[in-house]
This record gives sequence, structure tokens and C-alpha cells, in this order.
Amino acid sequence: MTNTAYPDSYYAASANRTPLRPVLEGEAETDVCVVGAGYTGLSTALFLLEHGFKVTVLEAVKVGFGASGRNGGQIVNSYSRDIDAVENSVSIEKAKLIGEMAFEGGRIIRDRVARYGIQCDLKDGGVFAAFTPKQMNHLQAQQRLWERYGYEHLELLDGDAIRHVVACDNYIGGMLDKQGGHIHPLNLALGEAEAIESLGGVIYEHSPATRIERGANPIVHTPQGRVKAKFLVVAGNAYLGNLLPELAAKSMPCGTQVITTEPLSEEMARNLLPQDYCVEDCNYLLDYYRLSADKRLIYGGGVVYGARDPANIEAIIRPKMLKTFPQLKDVKIEYAWTGNFLLTLSRLPQVGRLGENIYYSQGCSGHGVTYTHVAGKVLAEALRGQAERFDAFASLPHYPFPGGQALSVPFSALGAWYYSLRDRLGI
Ligand SMILES: Cc1cc2nc3c(=O)[nH]c(=O)nc-3n(C[C@H](O)[C@H](O)[C@H](O)COP(=O)(O)OP(=O)(O)OC[C@H]3O[C@@H](n4cnc5c(N)ncnc54)[C@H](O)[C@@H]3O)c2cc1C
Repeated sequence: MTNTAYPDSYYAASANRTPLRPVLEGEAETDVCVVGAGYTGLSTALFLLEHGFKVTVLEAVKVGFGASGRNGGQIVNSYSRDIDAVENSVSIEKAKLIGEMAFEGGRIIRDRVARYGIQCDLKDGGVFAAFTPKQMNHLQAQQRLWERYGYEHLELLDGDAIRHVVACDNYIGGMLDKQGGHIHPLNLALGEAEAIESLGGVIYEHSPATRIERGANPIVHTPQGRVKAKFLVVAGNAYLGNLLPELAAKSMPCGTQVITTEPLSEEMARNLLPQDYCVEDCNYLLDYYRLSADKRLIYGGGVVYGARDPANIEAIIRPKMLKTFPQLKDVKIEYAWTGNFLLTLSRLPQVGRLGENIYYSQGCSGHGVTYTHVAGKVLAEALRGQAERFDAFASLPHYPFPGGQALSVPFSALGAWYYSLRDRLGI
């Protein structure tokens, strides 16, 4: 099995064996047609199959081709904006529901890994690392906020304590989330796809949805076939393009880049990250990193608004890595790749329904490994007629980016520049 359709990432190079999947040819009929085989689509399909639905998944390229097969692999609880932003946006009842769901995605992943025997190097423990007293105050507030929603797995780390989990002198402290953690993201997606197939679900690869015919029984067209369904779930996220123009207007694809070193010696790996936790810093444009199962450092950061692929990824990310770990100056970079996530103006997920039967979830704006798994559960609940939690997400308000299609990219870059300047100045 080759992985030629994937970017040249460490994940593609270390992917588990997976079956070759067919291209859709001719006509198919199903209960639910899911567009996109990233975590959102796969999670939805799996929950639906577990409840007896007939499900067909259409993937433009290959399972996990998008962000789900390229990300930092960090299981981060809550959303890209925290629950306090949700509380300021929707009613108390809906904020309570969304707040309680902020910690569910990690549990779903662990349950799936155990139930379907998915080999994806799951490890517990994630650290938020602070550079400034302001960021430490923010972490303390975050701990109080999460505790209000019953989450008791956070531990604040002072300057000494953080040096016991990460060998970097730049941090003044941080916070450990004991139920954070990390995974090989592509292998999680591939394992979920095989779980779908074990329950009778069908996944077509190299079968992009090119047109949706809306109506009582919507039809999804691909270059060589079409699927007639009772319901559609659209889960193409940053790779969807303009398939549903209503969604494209209020979201913006953004790129972020990842590099991977050659395998480190056991001693070097243990020295850098003694507990094998993953780490993300508290800056607005944050760096994130962790060890792989074979002791490489996987280091990501940077945002390219509008998702144009940078020419030299190593030149962007390696200096960030060396700022954190100067001790890696002689270590070779073996992989470098870029991936796209979908940004919304509020940085909260965009969830809803078009007409009676086209459901969507997208735009989790950076942190999506846990959210997408919750989204799958919530979309499946809605299709089963239990829409309370879906309605809570759908009530989050969304607005177009300032400047419209033409100016949204420079305006967002300017905004990010302002926030990162504040980070650098510690204000
Ligand atoms: C480099 C990078 C690092 C990240 N690191 C982290 C992290 O460490 N922790 C974290 O929580 N989040 C992280 N994220 C975000 C997280 O990966 C995403 O939020 C999440 O994977 C989104 O899943 P998804 O299923 O919604 O979208 P995707 O995984 O992008 O999947 C969408 C799929 O739909 C397919 N598709 C699109 N259009 C069509 C069509 N017309 N027809 C058929 N198929 C279609 C695509 O090919 C793709 O496979 C990162 C993102 C990136 C890019």
C-alpha cells in the first residue's frame, strides 16, 4: 500500500496498513451520505452506524488527507476560544451544554481506541506553557473556569515544576491537563475508518463531492457517480471550497506547518520531555510539540491566513524549535509539511443545518482533535431526533470576516500581528 496521495509527512511515512478503497462509480443509495473523511465525518459515520444507520462516506482524496491526518496530534480539551467566550455568546442553558461537552472529545477518542483496538500511540498528559505572568494568570482563570464545569484534572506548574516536564528555560510556569494527551493522528483516522467498515459502512476515496442537488432526498454528485440519501453531513472543513457557498462566506482556511526531526537518542528524548507529555505554549500564535512513538520531536507553529503553502517550511519552523530547544541545533529535520484548518471570526465552531436534511460542522479554528469527535456524536444525535446539544452549538452566532472575501486575509493577519506583539511585550 502506498501513501502517495498524502503530503510527505512523518504520519504518512509511519501510517498503519490500510485497505485500498474504491472510487464511487454509478449510483448508490444510503440513509446518510457523509462528505469528508476527516475526524468530523468519520466520527459522525461511526456514531450513526453504531445506531443502525446505513452510511456512505465520500472522500475527495484519502481518509485523513486533511487536517485530521496532518495535525500536531495533541488532545486538547475545550475549544479554540474557551467556555467563557461561549458564555458571552449564547443563553445560560446553551452555554452550560456546550461547556459540559468541552471535555467529552478526549473520552470519545479513548473509548474508540479501546473499543476498536486502534493502534495510534495514545499517551496521556498535555501541558500549557506560559512565558509571562499575564499568561499564568490566564491559566489560573482557565483552571477555575473548567472546575466550574466539573473538570478536576488540571494542575498548575510553577517555574520549577514545568522544568520537570519540559527542558526549556523560556517558560515561567504552566498547567498540566492530565486528561490531555497525544496520538498519531493519521493512524487514529485510519483506525476509525476501519471501524466504520467493520460495521458495514462504505467509504469511497478519490470521490470528491462536486455538486449537491438539494431536495427531499438530496443527491451528491461525484465525477463518476452519485449518491442519493435521506440526509447529508458535510464535513469537508478547510478543504471544502465553495461546495456550500453559505458556509464559505463566514470562514477562512488557514495553514499551519509542522516539522519532524530524525529519531532522537533515548537520553535526549527523555531529557527534553521527561514525562512524554505534549506541550503548547500560551501565545496567540502558538507553538506546539511532542515526541513521536519512535522519539522524534514533532514541532508545529505559525499561521498562514488564506492557506497559501509556504515555499520553505523548515526555514519557518526550525528557528522556532531552536528557540525552545537550542540543544537540538545539530539534529536533522526529516519531514516538513503544511495543513489547513478553518478559522471563524469568533474562533468557535460553525454548526447547523441547511434546509431539512443537510447538516454541517466545521471551523473549530485550530483546536479540533477533541471537538470534531464531539461534533460527530452531536450530529448523529440530531439525525436520531435528539437535537438539544446540536441546537446549542447551532446557536453560536457567526459573522463574515471584516473586509469580505477580498480583504479578510490581510485584516486577519493584521489582527494576529497585533495579538502576537502583545504576547512579545507581555501585555
Ligand atoms: C498542521 C495542523 C496541526 C494541528 N494540530 C492540532 C492539534 O495538535 N490539536 C488539535 O486539537 N487540533 C489541531 N489541528 C486542528 C485539527 O486537526 C482539525 O480541527 C481537525 O482535524 C478537523 O477535522 P475535520 O474532519 O473537520 O477536517 P479535515 O480533517 O480537514 O477533513 C476534511 C476532509 O474532507 C475532505 N473533503 C473536502 N471537500 C470534499 C469534497 N467536496 N468531497 C469529498 N471530500 C471532501 C478532505 O479531503 C478532508 O479529508 C491542527 C490542524 C493542522 C492543519
